[in-house]
Amino acid sequence: MRLQLSEEDEAFRAELRTFFTTEVDEGVRATVRDRGELTKDQIVATHRTLNAAGLAVPHWPVEWGGKDWSPLRRHLWHEEMQRACVPPPLAFNASMIGPVIAAFGTQEQKERFLPPTANVDIFWSQGFSEPGAGSDLASLRTAAVRDGDDWIVNGQKTWTTLGQWGDWIFTLVRTNPDVKKQAGISMLLIDMRSPGVEVRPIELIDGGHEVNEVWFTDVRVPGENLVGEVDSGWTQAKFLLGNERVGVAPVGATKRVLAQAKEWAAATRSGDGTLLDDPHVAVRIAELENELMALELTALRVVANSADGKPHPASSVLKLRGTELQQAVSELVVDLAGPGALAFGTGEADSDLPVWARRSTPTYLNLRKASIYGGSNEVQRQIIAGTILGL
Ligand SMILES: Cc1cc2nc3c(=O)[nH]c(=O)nc-3n(C[C@H](O)[C@H](O)[C@H](O)COP(=O)(O)OP(=O)(O)OC[C@H]3O[C@@H](n4cnc5c(N)ncnc54)[C@H](O)[C@@H]3O)c2cc1C
Repeated sequence: MRLQLSEEDEAFRAELRTFFTTEVDEGVRATVRDRGELTKDQIVATHRTLNAAGLAVPHWPVEWGGKDWSPLRRHLWHEEMQRACVPPPLAFNASMIGPVIAAFGTQEQKERFLPPTANVDIFWSQGFSEPGAGSDLASLRTAAVRDGDDWIVNGQKTWTTLGQWGDWIFTLVRTNPDVKKQAGISMLLIDMRSPGVEVRPIELIDGGHEVNEVWFTDVRVPGENLVGEVDSGWTQAKFLLGNERVGVAPVGATKRVLAQAKEWAAATRSGDGTLLDDPHVAVRIAELENELMALELTALRVVANSADGKPHPASSVLKLRGTELQQAVSELVVDLAGPGALAFGTGEADSDLPVWARRSTPTYLNLRKASIYGGSNEVQRQIIAGTILGL
């Protein structure tokens, strides 16, 4: 898509492009370009580089480090970051708990948590899902019971992404079992170093360790760590989940991988020419490019219609279509790699296959998760049917 940018917006974009391509560590950008895994240090260091330049939390209130950017500028920021292979600011901090504390927290909570959240001095984890409470999140059973000013928490969370690196976890807990299930939930912030918190790894299909179970046994949580009123947690949860969906349609990154896929196809011999000369491959790439362009236009519309920081219901369309296209591009890359896609697990030094081919299958397998997390795609379809189509 060619956006007709004003001179000012064009200059803004050029400034961002220069920053992202010169100030962010080249090793980190190369890891993202090669579809490798980032270490905790790389994630934190990049986030801090962005924060120091005022580029980590532009969507927060200005008072807490946000920028009063137009929706178009926010889009350009996101787009340029992904294009430059810069890992976006840590979502748990920047897109999830930060905006919730800014909107629902007390003044003390804002002062205590927002600056270290913006700078990842606190690495947050998300403790919402439980066995038996994923799509049906309101069925959660982890219980918090009053003990003087404190809460005593018992229960289990699951699928906690990067929980092994978490300093604090924002949780939904049941504070009232005797009312309609949505009405008895509260949001608690829990220091993961508290006695009684245990993080257990879950191994994924690609062999990586990205998600965990988190167990709470008689964990004492100070009353001041409650966000909002007792039993009002469902309101904060809905606010947070809507933002989460906006963040999980990585249009820029998918466009970048598709552009890379074109280069990889052009560099792979096939018959008398290259894979890119194969009409089947060319058609597939052109179709994906068109689909991505349509999604980008939708993303712009959604951003432009988000009022007062509240997510537009069409964020579900972005989540659904964004993850479908992300998966389709990862599948294309596996097909381009051909038999080379089976070479995963070989050490880098043991193979003369290009890195992209060796990483194609683990990446493909890993991205199966995208249609599940952030609210499964079937559930997004239900939301679209109910709130947008009025069915
Ligand atoms: C890699 C990964 C990372 C995650 N990270 C986190 C995290 O950090 N923190 C956290 O709290 N959670 C996390 N999650 C959990 C995620 O939010 C849930 O997996 C998701 O909400 C789906 O819930 P579930 O897994 O319990 O599946 P279920 O809800 O049991 O669903 C099983 C199947 O039934 C379908 N289904 C369920 N309800 C309906 C319905 N009403 N209509 C039609 N179909 C339906 C689903 O689409 C799915 O196909 C993560 C998940 C994954 C896979």
